[in-house]
Amino acid sequence: MTSSSFSAEQRAAAEVVDVVVIGAGVVGLAVARALAQAGREVMVLERETAIGTGVSSRNSEVVHAGLYYEPGSLKARLCVRGKDLLYDFCASHGVSHSRCGKLVVATDEAQLASLKKIEARAHANGVPVQWLSGEEARALEPALNAQAALLSPSTGIVDSHGLMLALQGDVEAAGGAVALASQLARGEVVHDGIVLEVLADGEPMWLKARTVVNAAGLYACPVARAIHGLDPRHVPTERYAKGSYFSLAGKAPFSRLVYPAPQDAWLGVHLTLDLGGQAKFGPDLEWLPAGQDPLAIDYTVDARRADGFYDEVRRYWPALADGALQPSYSGVRPKLYGPGEPAPDFRIDGTAVHGVPGLVNLFGIESPGLTSALAIGEHVAAMVEAP
Ligand SMILES: Cc1cc2nc3c(=O)[nH]c(=O)nc-3n(C[C@H](O)[C@H](O)[C@H](O)COP(=O)(O)OP(=O)(O)OC[C@H]3O[C@@H](n4cnc5c(N)ncnc54)[C@H](O)[C@@H]3O)c2cc1C
Repeated sequence: MTSSSFSAEQRAAAEVVDVVVIGAGVVGLAVARALAQAGREVMVLERETAIGTGVSSRNSEVVHAGLYYEPGSLKARLCVRGKDLLYDFCASHGVSHSRCGKLVVATDEAQLASLKKIEARAHANGVPVQWLSGEEARALEPALNAQAALLSPSTGIVDSHGLMLALQGDVEAAGGAVALASQLARGEVVHDGIVLEVLADGEPMWLKARTVVNAAGLYACPVARAIHGLDPRHVPTERYAKGSYFSLAGKAPFSRLVYPAPQDAWLGVHLTLDLGGQAKFGPDLEWLPAGQDPLAIDYTVDARRADGFYDEVRRYWPALADGALQPSYSGVRPKLYGPGEPAPDFRIDGTAVHGVPGLVNLFGIESPGLTSALAIGEHVAAMVEAP
């Protein structure tokens, strides 16, 4: 992508649309829905030939309760609000989901201290949790090894593809459009909007929009760099971290999600269930090299990573049998920090941050981005409505 400016002919050829959203992942679709339902004319551009093939198709599908995030942060506020909106949306739109609950477990003294911190943070974020002794936790999940656990009853799981299809349906019902195989190539800030060059099935075309929302997931930073007129100092340096999953051969003896009490910014190798009750473990954390091209990411799961999983999982599920873990799939987190650095908040940068009227950049939308999507939609719609 380049950020050089357009010729007078290209600018003159631009078709005028009110709002362009770049990216038809769960976040872009939720933003588009909010704006379309607010009466704006919305076009979503998606480079792939289907919606939701990016980060939104490679995650744990967990509806997070909001236990872990710094009180007052965007992650905390948007997760808690997004969770409520998501459960309501799933109920009203027939999207499969289950409010199955989760246990965060401590298996040693260090994890007990971490569990206490999470309990305090959950209270600060207004998230219901219940402290359980090891016996109380085992009364719920007999296969569990735990000194203590926190029960989070509002955690759940959701069919992310069903969710995205329902969001697309709402966008279209409100008069919006989703253009597939339509890649944003570059943009330029002009006096009355932003001109965009789009490769539609490989052919260039030009749009001019009053509002542009960059929800390009792993590509959000390169897309922002390709907008001429946005000061590059307002584009953070991206890093990517791969997470691999292993599935369990056979049935898991758990009916709730099980997470170890986290030791650092990473949530640890946890057990999640899909809507069919099949268990998977992961994601682990593997930093990809600085400067990684997102187009060249290798999503193959290395079977050798299973060794680390057995050790981690047996701390809370000692009966995990040898050979029970099968390589499954992987996802990649769009991060704004590197190994050993503290995890920053979501960045939802509008005019007040970068000075470009009508442009919103969504950077670092890693977990809990799926849970937060509808609340991010509300938040962005309020930002671009503000004078
Ligand atoms: C391993 C893992 C586990 C996770 N687990 C959870 C979880 O359990 N719960 C939770 O709440 N969150 C979870 N998340 C986070 C969540 O998946 C993401 O925050 C969310 O899916 C991000 O959605 P998005 O729409 O921003 O990005 P994406 O889904 O990646 O969408 C961006 C879209 O933009 C398109 N695009 C890119 N460049 C262009 C361009 N130039 N022109 C047009 N289109 C373009 C892409 O093709 C893509 O479709 C997890 C993430 C990972 C990686």
